[in-house]
Amino acid sequence: MTYKEELCIDAGSENCPCLLAESGDCITCSRLQGKDCCDCNWRGVCIYNEYIQNGKKINNRRTNRKTKILKKIWYGDDLVVLVVQVSKGFALKASRPGSYVFLKKCGQSDCYSVPISVMRSEPEKGAIHLAIKVVAGKTKDLAAAEGELEIRGVYRNGLLGVSGIFTKKPQKVLCITKGIGFAPAANYNRWAYGKDTVDMIIDPDKINQELVNDYLADCPVNSIRYMELSPDFICPQDYDVVLLLASDYFLRSIYIPEDRKVCSNNFHMCCGEGICGACTMVDSEGKSHKMCKCQMEQF
Ligand SMILES: Cc1cc2nc3c(=O)[nH]c(=O)nc-3n(C[C@H](O)[C@H](O)[C@H](O)COP(=O)(O)OP(=O)(O)OC[C@H]3O[C@@H](n4cnc5c(N)ncnc54)[C@H](O)[C@@H]3O)c2cc1C
Repeated sequence: MTYKEELCIDAGSENCPCLLAESGDCITCSRLQGKDCCDCNWRGVCIYNEYIQNGKKINNRRTNRKTKILKKIWYGDDLVVLVVQVSKGFALKASRPGSYVFLKKCGQSDCYSVPISVMRSEPEKGAIHLAIKVVAGKTKDLAAAEGELEIRGVYRNGLLGVSGIFTKKPQKVLCITKGIGFAPAANYNRWAYGKDTVDMIIDPDKINQELVNDYLADCPVNSIRYMELSPDFICPQDYDVVLLLASDYFLRSIYIPEDRKVCSNNFHMCCGEGICGACTMVDSEGKSHKMCKCQMEQF
């Protein structure tokens, strides 16, 4: 694949400059990549100035914090919702579509940290809801957590192409979900409620109907259709934006025009900071991209 531009989801945020500025690998700033000239396309506050004038300080480094499990609700044998306590500020940030956090049992090694999308955020209560599909080592361990767990976040890059939904203007949006892809869809729907007109197509495989009902009850969508997704699914044309929240198999096989497509970021995430390399993607020109932070615009 060839890409037009690489944008950092954290650029200009409270988490910028990050560790990549320190190591000379900033995704946005050419000066912080070691070049002697400024040739970035970033139109926000200058990251180089911010870094240098602040005495080369990394802003708000995300670290593991212990938090209380307020509720733990099983939906069937392998799907559990954890409602965890967070600060109001954390919850407010987590309400942004595409937010995810890393979770692990208290005291467990960092290699057990699991990226989990925010399914609902309640800033007024200081709580976020997370749905965990229990698959293997990490999710089994996390699902066994009682009382407290460790949380790290908020991370922003759970949806690729997310700028397509950050419009002030109301849009007609189709949200197609399969399995646990419903979780980020529910968070988006709550955020967009009253602004966008949202139609959902939900593949009920690997997701629980009761959970869908519970998480759409207070912000009902315009319409819901339940159907089994197949690779030859023809996406309706009459939407401003289509969210496709499914596995890479469906992201590859279902055609949606790039300028209207928002999809789940299914890269393997480990540190979320662009350091570990777990989510690195190498494009057709041999350039590597850290997908925990990058938003790509495709040709
Ligand atoms: C941004 C993001 C948001 C996610 N949100 C949710 C969510 O809300 N609920 C949920 O249940 N799952 C979510 N996932 C997927 C979840 O992180 C994986 O299912 C989990 O890491 C599997 O770990 P495991 O040890 O239980 O199973 P494994 O057997 O290790 O993996 C099972 C599947 O998960 C994939 N996987 C393994 N490790 C990772 C990783 N570190 N990052 C991404 N995928 C991985 C594997 O490729 C495989 O397809 C999300 C993943 C990402 C990247």
